[in-house]
Amino acid sequence: MHTSTRIIHENEQRLEQHGAINPPIYHASLFAFPSMQAFLDFRAGRSERFLYTREGNPTIRALEEKIAMLEGADDCIATASGMGAITAAIMATVRAGDHALVVDSCYGPTREFLDDLMAGLGVETTYFHPEQRDLSSYFRDNTRLLYLESPGSLSFHILDLPALCRQARERGVATIVDNSWATPLYQQPHDLGADIVVHSGTKYIAGHSDLVLGLITANGERAERLREVAILLGATLGPAEAFLALRGLRTLPIRMEKHQKNGLAVAHWLEQHPKVRRVMHPGLPSFPGHQLARQQMSGWSSLFSFELLPPGTPEQRHRFMDGLKLFSIGVSWGGYESLIIPLLYENESKRARLSRIGLNDDCYRISIGLENPDDLIADLAQALERYETCNHCQEPPSPTQRDSLTQLE
Ligand SMILES: *Cc1c(COP(=O)(O)O)cnc(C)c1O
Repeated sequence: MHTSTRIIHENEQRLEQHGAINPPIYHASLFAFPSMQAFLDFRAGRSERFLYTREGNPTIRALEEKIAMLEGADDCIATASGMGAITAAIMATVRAGDHALVVDSCYGPTREFLDDLMAGLGVETTYFHPEQRDLSSYFRDNTRLLYLESPGSLSFHILDLPALCRQARERGVATIVDNSWATPLYQQPHDLGADIVVHSGTKYIAGHSDLVLGLITANGERAERLREVAILLGATLGPAEAFLALRGLRTLPIRMEKHQKNGLAVAHWLEQHPKVRRVMHPGLPSFPGHQLARQQMSGWSSLFSFELLPPGTPEQRHRFMDGLKLFSIGVSWGGYESLIIPLLYENESKRARLSRIGLNDDCYRISIGLENPDDLIADLAQALERYETCNHCQEPPSPTQRDSLTQLE
């Protein structure tokens, strides 16, 4: 059966719920037992029931079963946010004295968690450049985790997932892959060798910018351990969020088709615009990781970055951004509405980190929504009119010039 049919029909327990077409929202913190014997049977593991929502709830379970099916894994654990999934997955994998190997293009808060909380708990992290293919000199005797994200955050670097997962497996090192960008529809990291897959379900899976959600998938004992850790950490999803996520999931295949089409249309248009230096979209043949991406992915979502030619002044950048009418200035992505954010505007350490993966002050990240792409292109065209480029500076400005350019931000 095709995925879009399975999303709608598989694991539905309609008859047990009075025929209700949608799994009802079980707004209950606990589930009572009909008898002392039923309680004792449950405790002894002789029956399967729900006990307490932090440990499980029928609405959340319905979502977890669908995601496990989509990722091709034994089980899925839903969490209160993508960060809840990432932190539970990391904490279930490493402990004091262990070493983690992490790609430099990972999601920023993942890195903060490692550098702050995990470092404080005695876990050391090394970052490697996303173009690094051979990690043999990075692994140590105490390396227990290889953390990957492909395409990477902001720069969209494509990692060779099968090759990297193989290098970890040979050494008994567990791999976690953040698969939020591609969704389980366009990339299946377990098939490519990953042990644990994490998602920010907040993005495309929910799809309507109305909830925060995390998902973890894994197989066998590893999945059981992940559930224990997630329950102890207490990052439980609410049943109402699970209901909304199931609602989003039903239209994921058709939304992704449209996101893909719209995203590519805008990316191709931007690529030929005289004020655009480059477009970082894995689906463009000009993108350095494009061929590799084609080998391990079956489609493109609609979040990407682009770089404008060097600007005259910071005011030009403000004019461009404030001139956009259909793109809201906002973080997050994967919803029905188009969004844009400028990159590199916070502090020197973020600036240094992003320049290591090839990003600078002239880069912007956009999330293309479900609007008509002609309208989005017309909006970008009129806003770019307001952005004056400097025709003689084809090279990026020097770091000192750049500092003065960004004072406004
Ligand atoms: C947003 C995001 C996360 C975090 O998810 P939340 O649901 O916001 O906690 C993790 N990974 C990537 C790639 C993201 O973009």
